[in-house]
Amino acid sequence: MQKKIIITGGCGYIGSHTVVECLENYTKKNGYDEDFEIISIDNHLNSSSSVLQNIEQLTGRKVKNYDTNLCDYQKTKEIFEKENKNTHFIGIIHFAALKSVPDSVTDPIFYYQNNLNSLLNILKLSKEYKIDNFIFSSSCSVYGNTRELPVSENTPFGNAESPYAYTKQVGERMIIDFAKTSQNQKFVLLRYFNPVGAHISAIIGEDPKNPPTSLVPIITLTAAEKRDKMIVHGSDYETRDGSCIRDYIHVSDIAEAHRLAIDYLARNANRKINQIEIFNLGTGNGVTVLEAIKAFEKVSNKKLNYELGERREGDVVEIYADNTKAKDILGWSAKFGIEEMMLSAWKWQQKIL
Ligand code: UDP
Repeated sequence: MQKKIIITGGCGYIGSHTVVECLENYTKKNGYDEDFEIISIDNHLNSSSSVLQNIEQLTGRKVKNYDTNLCDYQKTKEIFEKENKNTHFIGIIHFAALKSVPDSVTDPIFYYQNNLNSLLNILKLSKEYKIDNFIFSSSCSVYGNTRELPVSENTPFGNAESPYAYTKQVGERMIIDFAKTSQNQKFVLLRYFNPVGAHISAIIGEDPKNPPTSLVPIITLTAAEKRDKMIVHGSDYETRDGSCIRDYIHVSDIAEAHRLAIDYLARNANRKINQIEIFNLGTGNGVTVLEAIKAFEKVSNKKLNYELGERREGDVVEIYADNTKAKDILGWSAKFGIEEMMLSAWKWQQKIL
């Protein structure tokens, strides 16, 4: 039986780093009885297909990608049917989703349609094909604007500040309801804080098709003079320098957590553990937008052309993680600091100029 992991959105930003993490770890060389096969389903809605060659260059291994829209149940089922022969599916890691706060404010229908229908289909198929382990990409945006800082997994949901955030709240709730009807499956919900940076090789990184709205790509594009200037969205918040606070976390640290989550579920397959576990993935350090810019300027030796501007709709003021649960249960910890995150993002940007 060939062991396989299905990764939806395997060509995307966090997906591609997780594909690499899995390809490098689940190998015969590392003591597994065979090299696991990684199957990606990604229709390149917001990713480029060239990432597949980059992954191969980096790992020496091929990834099979199906260019299929997960909102199409029949077409997605055909993939499961085809891949099911003589196979033990270890798990599904479901990344594929739209992730921009401002874009979700502009086009909420598209966000709800895409993020929720794809999740429903993939949940249904995971049960039909008896795939025990399911990892879901959630987000710290489920906490909304909370006074309880750092936020732990027990911090209650706040008001969803954007349609994007609401797709994650609803997505988590859909999984909780669904899990009750599928007792043989286990679920890990990973709440990412702000994933940034690129693989240290600079062979893969963030390469979206849509114009980026996230802070770090905007910083690096501005430094590379692909944009004239950047705007700091809000300088009058009640924070130490007036700009918003986020918990930036290196994408490779996030990728590692997915592998550790699969390991956790796999090694506890026959033990009584919670059917659903939720983990925050952040460093625990809150960094303001202006501090992030300073860290970038330091490691790149570049002066960034930025202006202080208006607040951005949908933004929470301040959020950072209590990550002790991921440390205790998954054995995970963040290895990269903000300067290393910025340096890796800058190296990647220079590569793709
Ligand atoms: N931000 C900014 N200028 C930009 C893009 C983002 O000041 O051009 C700020 C944004 O308002 C937020 C922080 O950077 O306070 C992180 O935003 P991002 O979109 O990267 O992540 P989010 O936390 O919204 O998911």
